[in-house]
Amino acid sequence: MRPGPIDLHAHSSVSDGTQTPAQLVAAAVEAGLSAIAITDHDSTAGWAPAFDAARGTGLTVVPGMELSTQLNGASVHVLAYLIDPAHPALLAATESIRAERLHRAEAMVTRIAVDYALDWDDVLAQTTPGATVGRPHIADALVARGHVADRSAAFDSILHWRGGYYRPHEAPKPIDGVRLVVEAGGVPVLAHPGARGPDHVFDDRRIAALVDAGLFGVEIGHRDNPPAAVTRWAEIARKYGLVSTGSSDYHGAGKPNQLAENTTSPEVYAAIVERANGSKPFLE
Ligand code: AMP
Ligand code: FE
Ligand code: FE
Ligand code: ZN
Repeated sequence: MRPGPIDLHAHSSVSDGTQTPAQLVAAAVEAGLSAIAITDHDSTAGWAPAFDAARGTGLTVVPGMELSTQLNGASVHVLAYLIDPAHPALLAATESIRAERLHRAEAMVTRIAVDYALDWDDVLAQTTPGATVGRPHIADALVARGHVADRSAAFDSILHWRGGYYRPHEAPKPIDGVRLVVEAGGVPVLAHPGARGPDHVFDDRRIAALVDAGLFGVEIGHRDNPPAAVTRWAEIARKYGLVSTGSSDYHGAGKPNQLAENTTSPEVYAAIVERANGSKPFLE
């Protein structure tokens, strides 16, 4: 591997990033990264085009996914590294989650349309065909209609979970998500654990259960983890022997997050690769 920062969390237009997988890889090369993980929500469709774009650049592409799970209405994201993308149970789960996300986005748009000029075609116009649909696509439709200035403004108002239009989507429980990732030969890491959802739903007993199920790490280095939560989750990582990762959660122009604003150590990266048996990092 070439020297440089390792960033294990980034999105493309296969989910809610604004760049195609090839553009994401080009941005990672440009930023001088050693390795980037492509972790679209509930889809591995970006892997092949990302590998193609990385060939000959010296950049390592780590195939991954950000699996949506839900506990008591709270959204919990599980990063799934180096899974077997053809594992039947995981494939079935992600297909079903994508369908639930679509259903939920339509329901949110129906609610929003009561108060704002907006219809489903506006959202489709902002979505790459086949992409995992999320609130960012609704945000882009609201921007295109002139209701808000940008994605962040949409998330702070109309799309906020307390904004009056929010609906959760169905998804497996976090523990079942972790089990599924392990079954598929992958390495599960709890994404942005200090974000509101996970930080509120995980007490000690539930964390111990996740670790028993095979949780391997926690994404401590992430801009959505407030300082108090970083302290809490660093202590949890120590207590349970979990690795700590750091990542940008880059979404192209869709979020302020910049590539490599948080990074993962080469030692932790090596431990993740060592642990996995579903697929391999791409470097050609
Ligand atoms: P959803 O999964 O559909 O509930 O939408 C949440 C997704 O929106 C997350 O994956 C975030 O990456 C993204 N997101 C959250 N806040 C913002 C923001 N302020 N600007 C852009 N995207 C955001
Ligand atoms: Fe996202
Ligand atoms: Fe996330
Ligand atoms: Zn993400």
